[in-house]
Formats: sequence, structure tokens, C-alpha cells
Amino acid sequence: MNRSDRLETLVGGAQFDVCSYSAGMTSGYSGRSPLRFIYRAALPGGGTTPLFKVLLTNVCVNDCAYCANQSGRDCPRFAFQPDELAKLFMELHAKRLVKGLFLSSGIAGSASRTQEKMVNVVEILRQRYEFKGYIHLKILPGAPFDCVEAGCRLADRVSLNMEAPTAHHLARLSSKKNLHQGIVERMRWIKQVMSNNEGLVRSGQTTQFVVGAAGETDRDILHTTSALYNELELRRVYFSAFSPVWRSPLEDHSPTSPHREHRLYQVDWLLRVYRFSPQEIELALGEKGNLPITKDPKLLIAQRQPWLFPVDVNRASYDELLRVPGIGPVSASRIIEARKGHSISSVEQLKKMQVVTKRATPFIWFQGMLPSEKQATFLPQLDEEVLPQTPVLAGCLT
Ligand code: SF4
Repeated sequence: MNRSDRLETLVGGAQFDVCSYSAGMTSGYSGRSPLRFIYRAALPGGGTTPLFKVLLTNVCVNDCAYCANQSGRDCPRFAFQPDELAKLFMELHAKRLVKGLFLSSGIAGSASRTQEKMVNVVEILRQRYEFKGYIHLKILPGAPFDCVEAGCRLADRVSLNMEAPTAHHLARLSSKKNLHQGIVERMRWIKQVMSNNEGLVRSGQTTQFVVGAAGETDRDILHTTSALYNELELRRVYFSAFSPVWRSPLEDHSPTSPHREHRLYQVDWLLRVYRFSPQEIELALGEKGNLPITKDPKLLIAQRQPWLFPVDVNRASYDELLRVPGIGPVSASRIIEARKGHSISSVEQLKKMQVVTKRATPFIWFQGMLPSEKQATFLPQLDEEVLPQTPVLAGCLT
């Protein structure tokens, strides 16, 4: 099999791994263009960067039901040798087609042997080719500590996919994976290596959930997400809406709506950036434990706590401002900065500070605010869904 055919398969097989919010974006090229192998990953500060996202092999001993590479699936299987893959990456890099590598793999034989080869690819890039750019290395479930540590010393980002939020849900997807020993234990090792060696893995540790494959609720996912941020200090959790793979055990399973994935990302943002508590997030969930597809979760959380509003924009703390729909970290900081010089006394001033006033005005107040500026008063929508009585998100991983 020639190199191009192997590339097609091993780049295609890597598409199920999410490495950024927009990692599903391909370059848009097809046919014989080498650009079809390139993914554009979103950067934290905005913009994207071209990554070569590839599997070392699509051979796998595991049977994850959602995955195109699972052992029982009848499909062509290929592998690269470490030095061959490193050389190929450097060719793409020399042509300025890619700036970084995202390396994942199926588990060929054993996790330790496969992880060793993956680390070897990165070693060759760093040592033989002196490549200093971005490398995201996937850590395999069951990989030994020395390989995990070596990977952390070489890569900018490492990730280990959890795929399902509880052991019970993971068991529905795979008869081989063990959530606590195979996955969470390795995540703890990564945290330990990072905290013992300042400056390693500068882009942090991440994970991914396949959303909707195991019948889990958004509450299950957000419960574990919250614990991953708080206990294991993950940099990011990614969500990938389940999409059935042809000739896999879940090929007849309905795909998950991308709107569900989008709502999970919105709440992830509230947890991670706005520092909403798990109890506040709980307010956005319906009685079946899912986020309403048709409603913005931040708006819903505000509507369900009417006693907190309206907030006085001239006196409210940063955290109080952040809870107002239409006010984000940038506009909250601008409001606080502007107040040092003068009071805020018009909607126009707020617009200039990037407040989305159409959303914010029902929730804010300032001296001299005109009744017409308040727009429609919001009504708490307590009748739509029963509020949960006991917050359950503040759990832990063990
Ligand atoms: S371990 Fe599971 S998800 Fe990963 S390649 Fe193998 S079958 Fe796919």
C-alpha cells in the first residue's frame, strides 16, 4: 500500500478526536491536494492554526462501539513506522502546510508498545529534526507511567479521551476500557508530572466526550466535567456530538444534534471562564437532566434567580456583572474600569463597553435609567420545568 493511501486512512481515522472547538474543520481541500490532510485548530486567543492530525495506526484491540477503528470492524488496517511518520510531518512542515502535529492512535497489541512508538515519533521530531513547534500527543488508556512521563516531557499538550462520563456509561460503549484504572489514573499521573515539573505540557491536559452515544444526560457530562476541572486541573474538556459510523455496532443509533454539543460548550464556558458554581449550572438543566436546546443556559440561570436582579452597574462586583446576560469578562472589566472615572448613566455608554444591551437591560439598573430602556421585564420561567431540589453537580471522580 502506498504512502498516500495509508495517509488517507490514518488521517481519516483521526477525525474522531477533537483537539479544539473547531477541530472538526478540515482545510476544505479534496481530490489529490496534500492540503486535504490538514485540520485547522482554534487558538485560545482567536484564529486557527494548521495541524497535521493523524493516527500512528488504525489497528486496535479495543471495541469502542462508536469508533471507526474498533477491532470488530471490517476495514483496511495500516500503520506508520515512527521515523517514517516523523519524516512525513517534516516534509509537510517544510512546505509550510502545517505548523503542528496532533498524534493519536489505535491500540495495536498493547497500550505500552503503541504508546512507546508514539513517544518515539515525538522524540525523533524534537531530537533528530529539532522541531520546536506545537505537538499534541494522545495518551492511550492503559499506557505505562514511564511512557506518560516521557510524553509529558516532549509534548505541548497531552490528552486522554474519557468518551463517557461514568464507568457505567463507558461500559455500554466498550467491554475493554476501564474508566478509573485505565483512564482517570493516567490523568492523575499527568497532573502529578506537570505539578512536579513546572513548565512541562505548557498547553495543558485535555479530554473529550462523545456526546449521546451512551445514553448519558448533560448532567452526567457536566458533573464529570466540573470534577475534571476542579480535581485534575484539566485545561479543556471537548464535546463531540456522536455520529454513527457505517458498519459499526451503533450504525443505526441516531446522531446527536450539534445544538446539544453547542449548549454543552456554552455551559463549559460558564464553568471554566465565568466560574459559575455547579449549583448555578444545575439551574440550567431540565428535569430529565438535559440543557434545553432552544434556550441560552446563561439566560435561563439568570431567569431562575430573579432575586439577584436587577444589578446596579455602578456598584456590582465583577462576579455579579458576569452573571448578567449580555455581559462577559471583557465588558465586565470595562465597566469596572470606567466606574473609576465616572458613573455609568446611559445605555449608550454600556454599548461602547461591548455590553449586549438588548440582552442585559432587563437585568441591570443605573441612576436615571429610563423605563423605555429597561425593555420587557424578564419573568422567571419556573413553570416550564421542575427545578431540581438537590444540586448534584459538585461531585468528585472517585
Ligand atoms: S481505543 Fe477505542 S476509541 Fe480508541 S481507536 Fe481503539 S476502538 Fe477507537
